[in-house]
Amino acid sequence: MSVADFQPVIGLEVHAQLLTRSKIFCGCSTEFGARPNAHTCAVCLGMPGALPVLNEKVVEYAVRVGRALECRINPVSIWARKNYFYPDLPKGYQISQYDQPLCEHGGLEIDGEDGPRRIRILRIHLEEDAGKNVHDPGGGDSLVDLNRSGVPLVEIVSEPDLRSSSEAAEYLKALRDVLVYLGVNDGNLEEGSFRCDANVSVMRKGSTQYGTRVELKNINSFRFVQKAIDYEIGRQVELIESGGKVTLETRLFDPVRGETRSMRSKEEAHDYRYFPEPDLPPLRIPAGFVERIERELPELPRAKLHRFTASYGLPAYDAKILVGDRPLADLFEQVQAVYRGPAKKLSNWFLGELLRLMKEEVREVGALRFSPAQFAALLQMVDSGELSNNAAKDVFAEMFRTGRDPREIAQEKGLLQTQDTGAVGAAVDAVLAANPGEVEKYRAGKKQVFGFLVGQVMKAMKGKGNPALVNAALKTKLGD
Ligand code: ADP
Ligand code: MG
Ligand code: ZN
Repeated sequence: MSVADFQPVIGLEVHAQLLTRSKIFCGCSTEFGARPNAHTCAVCLGMPGALPVLNEKVVEYAVRVGRALECRINPVSIWARKNYFYPDLPKGYQISQYDQPLCEHGGLEIDGEDGPRRIRILRIHLEEDAGKNVHDPGGGDSLVDLNRSGVPLVEIVSEPDLRSSSEAAEYLKALRDVLVYLGVNDGNLEEGSFRCDANVSVMRKGSTQYGTRVELKNINSFRFVQKAIDYEIGRQVELIESGGKVTLETRLFDPVRGETRSMRSKEEAHDYRYFPEPDLPPLRIPAGFVERIERELPELPRAKLHRFTASYGLPAYDAKILVGDRPLADLFEQVQAVYRGPAKKLSNWFLGELLRLMKEEVREVGALRFSPAQFAALLQMVDSGELSNNAAKDVFAEMFRTGRDPREIAQEKGLLQTQDTGAVGAAVDAVLAANPGEVEKYRAGKKQVFGFLVGQVMKAMKGKGNPALVNAALKTKLGD
């Protein structure tokens, strides 16, 4: 028996910050990186008697998420108190949703191990974030920063539909892409605005009875998601094989040692003594609200991916990279609309030169200095034979750096290939006259000589001969 005899079962809980400017129940700013406790008030400090007031923008963003993930939006949802004690939670409870969440029963399509799969989404609910404990590394005081207290979050809970660590990572990436496309989240795992807990269990292959799950916390990169889950699958299998039993618990992933270790036995719902929040009325979604938001939804990553492969004929590999960054995909379409040449050619430029230079310098599409029309003009110059592919790379680098016109750069650098048929004809004549032996061989049927003659003409023209014109002129004069 080994890991191969077991079927892993995984469900993810994702907490994503909603990028509103103010907090969920007060007017405090959600700005990141401010002086500790700069953005706090009686409400988010949990002062007795201070009353929460719901931020409408939060609901709008959450409905966007819900509909993008094909959920039903409940016309009435209920706020609940989740009670627990921790220094970063001044009220002693978190306002969340429990029995009747805002969104339920959705799904997200991903590329699974054996093709596309729909991962079901159980629920999406709204809640407020807690503050942050700041520990003095010198072993001194622990301090509390409540700037995050009351920052709006959605918790997106999947059904246990994922079957491997790579599927889990795939789902997480797809989910992040959706949230970023919607403009409601920055998708930053490392900085904690997009956080994930993974629930993992194993069962013997062929069984339909799920095993006991373990909840993994502290997974703050896509690489760690896979590592943490794989480690945990191995641990559970080994435990079962040696006659042990998996216990319902919360384990922490340690990225340094690459292992998970027990943090606490898993709390159950009744431990939180959930009850309806008396300070907030039920959340009622007005008529027409969902429909309006639905109309304003952008094209989602999955749909864009299908369109990029279907209507531009791009390979899935190319399309996936372009679509992975919405501004990049938009730029691609803007350039293509002017260029109108083969989309794969443009895609090669994007995946090659553009992304390579962006990695070195600009990084964001919004900060690029050249226009789509300039990019298109550059490619058209290549297609018409005015620029060789290599020369075009030089021109592109300069256009990338300065935003100057490609034609101007090419002229200045002396890279334009001559379109002057007279000059090409003269160079061809000279080369043929200087190489009578080679011409003889060619005419006798040794066709490889042709390449040599092209090379000689290009050399005579100092690389500025238009290859198409040179080829044509040579063929004519050789009598082909
Ligand atoms: P809790 O808040 O107690 O963690 P939730 O309902 O919020 O409970 O989340 C439960 C998560 O655990 C869901 O993502 C679900 O898909 C997953 N899950 C439930 N049962 C199993 C199981 N047997 N194996 C793996 N994951 C599971
Ligand atoms: Mg959980
Ligand atoms: Zn506040």
